[in-house]
Amino acid sequence: MILVLVETDASGAIEVSREALTFARSLGDAGGGIPVDAVVVGDVADALRDQLATYGVRTVHRVTGDAFTSYAGAAWAAAVQEARRQAGSVVVMAAGTPRGNEVIAHVAAREGVAMAANVLSFGGLAPFVVTRQVVGGAALEEMRLDERPAVFTVAGHAVEAQPAPARADAALVDCAPAVSESDLVARVVSTEEPEPDLSGSLRSARVVIGAGRGAGSADGFKDLLELTDLLGGSLGVSRVVTSLGWRPHHEQVGQTGSRISPDLYIPCGISGAIQHWAGCSSAKSILAINTDAEAPMVTKATYAVIGDLHEVVPAINEEIRRR
Ligand code: FAD
Repeated sequence: MILVLVETDASGAIEVSREALTFARSLGDAGGGIPVDAVVVGDVADALRDQLATYGVRTVHRVTGDAFTSYAGAAWAAAVQEARRQAGSVVVMAAGTPRGNEVIAHVAAREGVAMAANVLSFGGLAPFVVTRQVVGGAALEEMRLDERPAVFTVAGHAVEAQPAPARADAALVDCAPAVSESDLVARVVSTEEPEPDLSGSLRSARVVIGAGRGAGSADGFKDLLELTDLLGGSLGVSRVVTSLGWRPHHEQVGQTGSRISPDLYIPCGISGAIQHWAGCSSAKSILAINTDAEAPMVTKATYAVIGDLHEVVPAINEEIRRR
């Protein structure tokens, strides 16, 4: 059995969790039809159960109770472990979100096994081999998971979320883990709304417009924001931009910012330092706009326009508006 921790929001399973379910299904298919179960912390509405069924989930393990009214990584791990026991799972996985990585790390520690984070693909079931991003996404590593359960998280957008062709009804079972006081020591006690995120959801955006020192000043983002709007994407920036106070930190891409995996990344006036590259190397295509043809971002990009972003970006905007 394969068990996937599924994170939800008001609209159901979040996209990266649906990607993890798709990944799990391909793993199950490779194993001759190993079933996939899901564990969900919180109530499971019929709509969510139906949605999970369309992703091939056989049984949904629902975890509710006082210990789960606010998030606590260790308590969630206790829940995943109990669901694993119920399901008899030999593989336990989640999407590589901050929560997914934390919970799965706890699960690995409790089970006394190694964990692979940010997995991109699997290379076989016997032996169980996965390829994962390391050094902030700057390198790939093959890892062999010989212990059971095999425990890992899937990098965002490593696969596309795809419903299963044949729809089945998923069973719903309650899962009541034993949670100790120490499992609740580190827990969410209050939440604060972040500053309004004008750039949308950067980490899951399909198109990201990047802006670096080449923007020139805090006033140099007008055309970049317009391009972001026109393409329905999010704005991501380099650390120079946030350090200079030109844009807020939640927009930073890189080792100390967000990791992004868009279909298209358009870094404008960004040199492509290794710390920035660590956050954007998973982009499927990169179109660099830079005055320097030798800039690392330009040499690594799929496409490049050599020129001043203050001329190139307005020209692109005009062309898009014209169409
Ligand atoms: P620069 O390196 O100065 O590059 C500016 C680029 O813009 C150049 O390539 C130039 O040719 C081009 N340019 C200039 N004017 C124009 C124009 N008019 N039109 C087009 N192109 C133009 N950086 C991050 O981004 N994210 C991180 O998370 C991060 N974490 C870090 C962590 C540590 C521990 C350290 C030490 C550094 C970190 N950095 C990070 C900083 C990183 O090393 C670089 O300093 C930073 O990424 C450079 O930002 P930049 O590309 O905007 O600026």
